[in-house]
Amino acid sequence: MTVTETSPHVSENPFPTGRLFIGGQWRDATGSGLMAVEAPATGEKLTDVARATIADVDAAVTAARAAFDSGVWSGLPGRERARILLEVGRLMRERSEELGRIESQDAGKPIAMATAVDVNGAAETFEYYGMLAQQLDGSVRQTPGHVLATVQREPLGVVAAITPFNFPLILSTSKVAPALAAGNSVVLKPADDTPLSSLKMAEILQEAGVPDGVFNVVTGVGSELGDHLVGHPEVDKVAFTGSTEVGARVAGQAGRNLRPVVSELGGNSANILFADADLDRAIDTVIQSFVFNAGQFCMAGSRLYVERPVYEEVLARLPQAVSSIPWGDITRPESVFGPLISRKQFDRVSALVSETVAAGARLLVGGNPDPERPGYFYPATVLVDVREDHPAVAREVFGPVLTVQPFDTEEEVIAVANGTAYGLAGGVQTGDAVKGQRVASRLKAGIIWINGWGLMDPAVPFGGVKASGWGRENGPEGLNEYLQTKSIVLNLEG
Ligand code: NAD
Repeated sequence: MTVTETSPHVSENPFPTGRLFIGGQWRDATGSGLMAVEAPATGEKLTDVARATIADVDAAVTAARAAFDSGVWSGLPGRERARILLEVGRLMRERSEELGRIESQDAGKPIAMATAVDVNGAAETFEYYGMLAQQLDGSVRQTPGHVLATVQREPLGVVAAITPFNFPLILSTSKVAPALAAGNSVVLKPADDTPLSSLKMAEILQEAGVPDGVFNVVTGVGSELGDHLVGHPEVDKVAFTGSTEVGARVAGQAGRNLRPVVSELGGNSANILFADADLDRAIDTVIQSFVFNAGQFCMAGSRLYVERPVYEEVLARLPQAVSSIPWGDITRPESVFGPLISRKQFDRVSALVSETVAAGARLLVGGNPDPERPGYFYPATVLVDVREDHPAVAREVFGPVLTVQPFDTEEEVIAVANGTAYGLAGGVQTGDAVKGQRVASRLKAGIIWINGWGLMDPAVPFGGVKASGWGRENGPEGLNEYLQTKSIVLNLEG
């Protein structure tokens, strides 16, 4: 989406339009401001959404606080919340076609992927946290003397959730589902570019029975609303996914109020291909690791390191493997990836590739996007003869771009793989399971895949180290982010 001033007219179309979801009501933004949502595949306007103001953020936080304090959700037994979260999952499956179409057009994803990965993943996540909500419990601790010590787990209060453009539904769900399972209320600020599935989610949560005020959505411009939302005194926890730069600002803002933050930030992950790997399978994995979601995947395996004995063979095979990927038309079920999200991202990726070539790298395949094609389509691109200080190696690309370098020893490749400010993901492709484990255990990242790339599951935690953030989403660890522990110690004497 590109943020433009538009007339306060909401166009007739099948997408959620022009309203905020606050306190269980759909309402206009204060001042009736709107902003256009653009389809990345065409560059045309899809719809308008409300451009929230600071007053709207205040209203959403107030509604979330009132709902939390009333106990209408936070006071329910876990199994009651579970019933509603499981119903959310069911409704998402029932509406997967509609949700998939919204996500596909808003984020430029192939329709089949949007439905199979994004919508299915969101439904699974609500179901997973619904099941964990049923099992929420505390414990009794053994203590000396006449003391009964119980340890309870409680929700925190109001959670501000802020999400990026690349996986709008899943990354909103990975915050909203555990936060609600724990009993919190939520104010969700989706990405400026991709707000539509969050509005649909509000409709589904309400229908499933989430009480008014427990879940609120404010659409708008992050740079206008973010500081206020994050620094709001009634916000008890911030859940942020986005760039490292904005993440640092969010952490500073929340820190001023001493509020905890879970943050999932940028990445620049290394994929290590050893000569003993099954090469057919490894090359499929390499392709998947950098073209998935047009490379707009925080865990993209954008830096490939190939052991010297198979380096030339891998370079010889990559052009054919890359050229045979079906891509582009997001309405075709076989399309693997679609456009980049916006003109801004297209220009950024184009510049990173050009600067890297200007610095001495060689384009093995790709580059040269079609200037006549509407939308923001960038072809899968492989750069070789690169160095660690080249822009496409040193920085997060966030586009379908792979850099390839040879290596000679395990020590050397572990050092270069870890030689980045980021630490989100990593991969080891090898026929030797022991070596795979050994190398994986030395990579500084939150998740490592051996003989694969990108497998995610609601039960498996992910998150970063170093500049890739802190805290974890998914798994019981993801639920713990939204709970606090209280010890109650009863003196049984006298
Ligand atoms: P971004 O940082 O530009 O924006 C993310 C969100 O922050 C948006 O909702 C935006 O409106 C909001 N925002 C902007 N200014 C703000 C402020 N001052 N205070 C609070 N919020 C503000 O990121 P993006 O371009 O939408 O997404 C791409 C980035 O996200 C990449 O760096 C990618 O690696 C990262 N990402 C990380 C993960 C992960 O799990 N680690 C997952 C997906 C994306």
